[in-house]
Amino acid sequence: MRRRHSLPLLLMGLLLIAAIAFHYTGGKAAAIGVPALLFGGLIICFTAGFTIRYHRAKTTTHSTTEVSLPRIFQKQATAEANPVDPAAALGRTYRKEQWAITEATVDGMLDAGIGLIWSHVHPHTVAIFFPTLDGGFLLRRFKSQSDCINKNAVLYPGVGVIGSFLKEGLKQLNLKEIISDSMTLYYYTKDAGIRSLMASPITTGGIERGTIIVDSTVPKNFTDEDHAFLSTATALLGEAVYGSYLYTEHKLQHGRLAAMSSIEKEFFRNLSRSSIVEKIVAIVPLALPFDRLTISMKNEDATSATLLAAVGADADAFVKKQFSLREKSLASVLYANNLVLSRNYSNEHFEVRYFNDEPRNDELRSFVAVPLGVDECRGMLLVESYREDVYDESYRELVGRLSTSAGLAIEKMLTFEKANALATHDGLTGLYNHRTFQQLLADEITRAIRYNEPVALVICDIDFFKKINDTYGHPFGDFVLKGISSLLENSVRQDIDTVARYGGEEFALILVKTTDNGAAETAERIRAAIAALPFKSPTGNDVRLTMSFGIAEYRKHARQINELIAKADKALYRAKEIGRNRVEVF
Ligand code: GH3
Ligand code: MG
Ligand code: MG
Repeated sequence: MRRRHSLPLLLMGLLLIAAIAFHYTGGKAAAIGVPALLFGGLIICFTAGFTIRYHRAKTTTHSTTEVSLPRIFQKQATAEANPVDPAAALGRTYRKEQWAITEATVDGMLDAGIGLIWSHVHPHTVAIFFPTLDGGFLLRRFKSQSDCINKNAVLYPGVGVIGSFLKEGLKQLNLKEIISDSMTLYYYTKDAGIRSLMASPITTGGIERGTIIVDSTVPKNFTDEDHAFLSTATALLGEAVYGSYLYTEHKLQHGRLAAMSSIEKEFFRNLSRSSIVEKIVAIVPLALPFDRLTISMKNEDATSATLLAAVGADADAFVKKQFSLREKSLASVLYANNLVLSRNYSNEHFEVRYFNDEPRNDELRSFVAVPLGVDECRGMLLVESYREDVYDESYRELVGRLSTSAGLAIEKMLTFEKANALATHDGLTGLYNHRTFQQLLADEITRAIRYNEPVALVICDIDFFKKINDTYGHPFGDFVLKGISSLLENSVRQDIDTVARYGGEEFALILVKTTDNGAAETAERIRAAIAALPFKSPTGNDVRLTMSFGIAEYRKHARQINELIAKADKALYRAKEIGRNRVEVF
């Protein structure tokens, strides 16, 4: 850097010498040359200054990245490098412990401060007061020659000697001649004969956080110098105490964030509704107080939802219950608006949470509700408490983060489910597709072999379907296909038998533990139902159609999957040939 700004200075020097030389030569050249040289010198000076400043600025910016912590911090950092279990970091117990440690540290600092003041000003009592929630100042620590200190003393503005000075906030005080009874100071239980007193407010971060009172039985005991000392000691002590609280607050905040990140990962470990719900149920009690926790998710129809979990008050009456999102309830409002809401319940009327005949527990007084989902409310987490005003900003933030993670996991799960459904199901009818049918039939045959049970295959085909399309149009044909699909699904045993779309207007039924005769009975029932089912055409008339069925039984008719299919097909072909609208067994 030295080399850089020495060059302009050298030039300046040379120019000055030249200017002086010109001046002494006199004449016209001097009249123009001297100011020109001085002006040039000035510009060089500015440039040099700028270069230096710019260079310094650059150096400063650069050097900040190299700043290292003072050694005192380095030591503390290693001492604190003690990882906390993420779930514990969200827990109330951990927070309570941390605050208890901080309070003990603060007490230690206050006692040290009291000792310092004590040895300097030789008082009767040194007392430190911290603010209470109701605007008073509670005695926190003290040292006294007296044994009549009121350990639970609270000073209120307007009450007693000190109170009269507290009315417009905390003040510096130096009362030199007190004549009243010491009990009017409110921190003595009897007259201690206090004659002088000084006080200094603890102010940090622009907020009054307490006061230190020092008294004496001697009138005019404290000089202005003593008061100045007290004021400095108070300021130092205040900063130290405030720093301790701030440190704990930040440490807890950091712990919470770290815990949330590790929990976020957990949500993605197992992408199923039950696993995501289980995780929420496990984490919420660690993160916030509650008397009831309920989690619901929207059903496929989007007009209703189901309660997947309930813990706490009247839990059994909620769990697994379905509720409408169209009826008036807290859940309906929240699902519709997709927002985080927390407040106290109305005092005037009972607010229905989910459904009208739910248990009406008036003791639950406040709640926080958060939507689960990213752009759309897929589910909802409702946390309720018997106490009012429980869910403040920090709880809302925590539960909000929790719901964001759960919501992302739910979105991912739904996408996954959708992709899965597309791969295994037919898009038009929602039935299993041909590929899944083949796999399911193979599985059922394996089972039939293992348990030596029959399994029947029914292949059916709509009669003259081409004509339906030709007469009423393709969309009506699709409508018919969907209607027949649901009729087929409702005609077999749910979760036992299988219905698949085999091809265009052909369907396949796998009837387990069923012989060809049993299958023929089922098929006959379906045939009759279809023949009797009217479909409203676009022109308004009732269209009826029929279906033909072919049946083959595993083992009786075939011992290979392809053979079984071929034989059921053959039976269907025969049904068509004989005249349609009938059931044929191979
Ligand atoms: P048969 O009684 O001999 O079975 O006569 P059919 O007219 O039903 O038989 P065909 O196989 O000739 O015609 C089947 C028709 O089904 C032809 C095709 O356009 C129609 N089809 C296949 N898939 C769909 C679909 O997804 N939607 C609609 N609307 N029609 C379909
Ligand atoms: Mg057909
Ligand atoms: Mg066909």
